Amino acid sequence: MNAEDSTMIRFNQVNKWYGRDHHVLKNISLEVKTGEVVVVCGPSGSGKSTLIRTINQLEAINDGEIWVDGIQVNNPKTNINRLREEVGFVFQHFNLYPHLSVVENITLAPIRVRKMSEADANQRAMELLERVGLAHKRDAYPSQLSGGQQQRVAIARGLAMQPKVMLFDEPTSALDPEMIGEVLKVMQGLAESGMTMMVVTHEMGFAREVADRVIFLDHGEMLEQGAPETFFQNPQHERTRQFLRQIL
Ligand code: ADP
Ligand code: MG
Repeated sequence: MNAEDSTMIRFNQVNKWYGRDHHVLKNISLEVKTGEVVVVCGPSGSGKSTLIRTINQLEAINDGEIWVDGIQVNNPKTNINRLREEVGFVFQHFNLYPHLSVVENITLAPIRVRKMSEADANQRAMELLERVGLAHKRDAYPSQLSGGQQQRVAIARGLAMQPKVMLFDEPTSALDPEMIGEVLKVMQGLAESGMTMMVVTHEMGFAREVADRVIFLDHGEMLEQGAPETFFQNPQHERTRQFLRQIL
């Protein structure tokens, strides 16, 4: 099987409840191919964060199967820490370590977890900082950076572990409007470099331009998925149309 055909993420009839009654993911089946960029959208509370958090088991599922690069996530025998090394996660709030410099934020996990030498980790961190346009900030502390810059460092930090997949949960929602573009641009570059990505976002411009596929969640149900052209021009469900009217 060549790389283009391979499945990186697979959900097979996944269900999740919070407590007994709150059915938050309803029979979700989906596949993300290697190198594919999938945008997840939907109203607040529809289960978007829960969906992507199940991929590295920040949330456990109750039923069904999730596979990442051929490894079953919801299997007690799976080494979840090992799996998490392969899956980068960028949150709405950047969660940088405030007491570490930019470059130390990026090298920490490669040195501690991957046992990379400090010299190699530093070199790699500088390459990543170049890529996100922040090489000149290597010795700054997070508090000295704008929100957009902090989020770009968070992306570089995720990439430092050389993950197979990058997950983003509303990475620009906490940013001032003038900083959204710089973060989306870094994400677009990453997508163009062939990274497999799942991105929860309300940035429909990004979805149109960068996504291979858009998924719409509503009340924990995957109501619709399609290529951006189809999704935006010809949504099948009234609830999708309603959602798009509200945010576009
Ligand atoms: P979204 O990201 O689309 O806004 P979430 O996945 O965060 O949606 O949440 C889906 C639903 O599950 C919401 O009704 C939310 O209140 C609920 N929920 C989320 N996290 C928890 C939790 N840890 N415990 C109980 N309910 C939760
Ligand atoms: Mg959310």
